[in-house]
Amino acid sequence: MPEHTLVAAAVDDLASGFGGTLLQPGADGYDEARKVWNGLFDRSPALIAQCAGTTDVVAAVNFARENDLLVSVRGGGHSAVGYATCDAGIVIDLSPMKTIEVDPDAKTARADAGLTWGEFDAATQEHGLAVTGGRFSTTGIAGLTLGSGSGWLERKCGLTIDNLLSADIVTAAGEQLKASEDENSDLFWGIRGGGGNFGVVTSFTYRLHEVGPLVYGGLMASLPERAGDILRFMRDYMADAPEDLGGAVAFVSAPPEPFVPAEMHFKPIVGIVICWTGDHEEGERVVAPIREVAQPVMDMVQPMPYTALQSMLDAGGPKGINGYMKAEFLEEMSDQAIDVLVERGLNRAGPMAQIIVEPMGGAIGRMGEDDTALGRRDVPWCYHALAMWMEPDQEAADAHMAWARGLADDIRPHTTTGVYLNFTSDQGEERVRLTYGPEKYDRLVALKDRYDPDNLFRLNQNIPPSGRERRFD
Ligand SMILES: Cc1cc2nc3c(=O)[nH]c(=O)nc-3n(C[C@H](O)[C@H](O)[C@H](O)COP(=O)(O)OP(=O)(O)OC[C@H]3O[C@@H](n4cnc5c(N)ncnc54)[C@H](O)[C@@H]3O)c2cc1C
Repeated sequence: MPEHTLVAAAVDDLASGFGGTLLQPGADGYDEARKVWNGLFDRSPALIAQCAGTTDVVAAVNFARENDLLVSVRGGGHSAVGYATCDAGIVIDLSPMKTIEVDPDAKTARADAGLTWGEFDAATQEHGLAVTGGRFSTTGIAGLTLGSGSGWLERKCGLTIDNLLSADIVTAAGEQLKASEDENSDLFWGIRGGGGNFGVVTSFTYRLHEVGPLVYGGLMASLPERAGDILRFMRDYMADAPEDLGGAVAFVSAPPEPFVPAEMHFKPIVGIVICWTGDHEEGERVVAPIREVAQPVMDMVQPMPYTALQSMLDAGGPKGINGYMKAEFLEEMSDQAIDVLVERGLNRAGPMAQIIVEPMGGAIGRMGEDDTALGRRDVPWCYHALAMWMEPDQEAADAHMAWARGLADDIRPHTTTGVYLNFTSDQGEERVRLTYGPEKYDRLVALKDRYDPDNLFRLNQNIPPSGRERRFD
């Protein structure tokens, strides 16, 4: 375990007036509080500052800066790369901050940065409203939004950032700012896809859309031999499909549930996730051609609560599981790309590994290329390889990582040079640079120079400031 060198008097000083909880190693609750979603990141921070509100966040940021501490910022703790925790530094943990105010008339929600999507959806669905959120309900709204935000509703509502109206931010200097189209608009541009590089966001205000409470959706599953035909059909069908239709083709294992034929339990299947947000009868008509091609052996696509659809994948990726991710935008869903997905999808490293292949298009393309830091709004499909495993041994880790990397290598000729920060894993700064392209990257560096010139917030998909040594590497 690394040494913790915090000066007791300094921590006492922080504690006076701190409304939340400060946890040091050995304290009750410390071990639980240091855990993140990805079990691979078993880290021991010197201090976990569980913030009760913005004043606490300001105090924690000032404390971190004044004591030269490595800083992790934690929302839902769901990042695949484990940046929400660190060894010997401070975790600025916003997870206790969970206030949400929904204005059903204005169709907006102001939400604290500690909420998960499950909590956010529960509050907005009381009014039949929603915004694009993560596909695992345990994901935090903060990390997901700052990295762009992709989900089942994106073809109808756009990415999460496309619906962001404003954010409250604490900068590295401890200054509180609002970012919106009218205030600090440059910063507002940068946080929409630029991740947690420019400060700690304490709350977000989103535009909401009428969705649910019931949608026509769920999962149907087909035999593995249907995979190629399904992907080829979906490629063509989704090109002109109504924006109310979202979903994915998923390479997963059949769950050992009573509604799944016993001989299929744990065997590879091809799942089709449907999220239709319009009239249910029309949804059934729109989905009919998909059913015809899929010839499902299990079909649970039906009217269901939107909140149930949003948590449908949760059990497949519980907190503490080991995870390693690759994800890319596809320039086109060519026959060759389909061959790679089918080969890797039917030969996964273990039963919990998944590939999720998502159609994009629709409302995503309505924002201009330069309206937000995130670009490439024209890509038609995206794939996620989620290598997930429970075994603690290195052999399992090596096999799963090799599988995900192998897929990424095989499919590279068909992918773009960058992808959302949310989906970037261990490729490093060069990959982040390629994601934005030179002009946007320079603009992001200028924002970094202005709001975090010493790179206090660098445990992230980092955009380092210009002309400076990184202080703590
Ligand atoms: C299994 C799995 C499925 C996923 N599915 C999706 C998906 O469907 N769509 C999608 O878009 N993404 C998806 N992701 C990616 C996910 O959105 C990102 O990892 C996101 O960062 C998680 O947000 P969080 O708040 O839970 O993360 P955390 O781990 O808490 O934070 C991740 C990073 O975000 C930044 N951050 C967090 N909170 C703040 C804050 N308040 N202020 C400033 N910076 C902050 C920090 O840099 C932090 O290191 C998935 C990831 C996994 C592992």
